[in-house]
Amino acid sequence: MTSRSYWLEEQREPLPERRFDGRAEVAVIGGGVTGCSCALTLAEHGVRVRLHEAREIAGGASGRNGGFALRGATEPYDAARVSLGPDRARRLMELTERSLDRLESLAGDAFRRVGSLRLAWDDAERDALAREHEALCADGFDVAWVDELPAPLDRLYRGAILHPHDGAIQPARWVRRLARRAAEAGADIREGDRVAPDELFADAVVVAGDGFTASLLPELAATVVATRGQVLATEPLPERLYERPHYARGGYDYWHQLPDGRLVIGGQRDAALADEETDVMETTGLVQERLDALVEQLVGARPRVTHRWAGIWGTTPDRNPLVGRVPGRERVWIAGGYSGHGNALGLACGDLVARAILGEHPPELDLFEPSRFSG
Ligand SMILES: Cc1cc2nc3c(=O)[nH]c(=O)nc-3n(C[C@H](O)[C@H](O)[C@H](O)COP(=O)(O)OP(=O)(O)OC[C@H]3O[C@@H](n4cnc5c(N)ncnc54)[C@H](O)[C@@H]3O)c2cc1C
Repeated sequence: MTSRSYWLEEQREPLPERRFDGRAEVAVIGGGVTGCSCALTLAEHGVRVRLHEAREIAGGASGRNGGFALRGATEPYDAARVSLGPDRARRLMELTERSLDRLESLAGDAFRRVGSLRLAWDDAERDALAREHEALCADGFDVAWVDELPAPLDRLYRGAILHPHDGAIQPARWVRRLARRAAEAGADIREGDRVAPDELFADAVVVAGDGFTASLLPELAATVVATRGQVLATEPLPERLYERPHYARGGYDYWHQLPDGRLVIGGQRDAALADEETDVMETTGLVQERLDALVEQLVGARPRVTHRWAGIWGTTPDRNPLVGRVPGRERVWIAGGYSGHGNALGLACGDLVARAILGEHPPELDLFEPSRFSG
């Protein structure tokens, strides 16, 4: 089935032309949030950086996602305290909080800080959320427990965590703005330019391909697994029910309403988990029908659907990204593998990989060391 992202249809202005001849010091592959963030930091430090994007800026997951700008990573905070240790879990959370602040300062009207609601679908999920809420409170992060949900959520869900500082983005508008900043700082951005790491003669090559990592670095195919997510957008609804991002069932359902009343809703990947491990950017009847049914549950009607689309992200075994030098490759770096949670993290990790190339040693890099999966 066709795949037409609502976000990418917004009119765009051409990027400022900053082409330079000859060799780049750093080549970046991928013009999503990660690649644009990396190019911006490098260009601001006077590096000759060239970004190669096979499609258009934000043409990958960055212009096809749900539009949630959340702190944290994919793993719930209480689980991250166990798997990473309390100090590293806290540092990861703080990194994404700073990233959201930076996103807000750069994105203009592409970002709205409306908070997010993480909903419990059943008693087991309510217990899990209660544990996460307790861990967040214990570490001093601003959250609130919500017992009394407004209709129609009260019929469907059993409590929620409110994250007051999260927000919603128009992701394509945001990443196009980021690309513009990178170009204004001197980055040479080339769209419609499909490349491979080994054919680029720069001192350093950054692979910022997230869900497309396997096609760029085949040795990481089992580490960063292509995963498809599907989304739809409806016509504007008369009632405003879901201004802030809502998500439930461990993230398998997510939705919010845009300022014009349109509902954007995604997920239901668990209808066909194995089939959705793919880098084919196409929607399927099964998942889209499940999304239609969820729309009906949430709004009590079947509004006209104007857009249906799919996008690809990269999932790693521990659901945290890889940022740093690719093991076994001298010149090649990676930032990607956000496991479906890359809007705030991608901005942070693009900047981190750039700083590593500049010879800085930001302490957060140790959270995402690519060699943790080697050997
Ligand atoms: C359906 C869906 C919903 C999501 N929802 C959310 C959400 O609500 N909140 C959230 O935080 N995260 C969400 N994510 C995840 C988030 O969108 C991604 O993690 C993030 O956008 C990754 O950005 P990136 O720049 O690393 O990768 P991408 O944006 O995918 O960019 C990679 C780019 O590399 C390009 N490329 C690939 N191969 C080549 C090549 N050979 N040469 C040149 N260029 C190449 C691609 O065209 C692509 O543009 C979602 C993802 C999807 C797919």
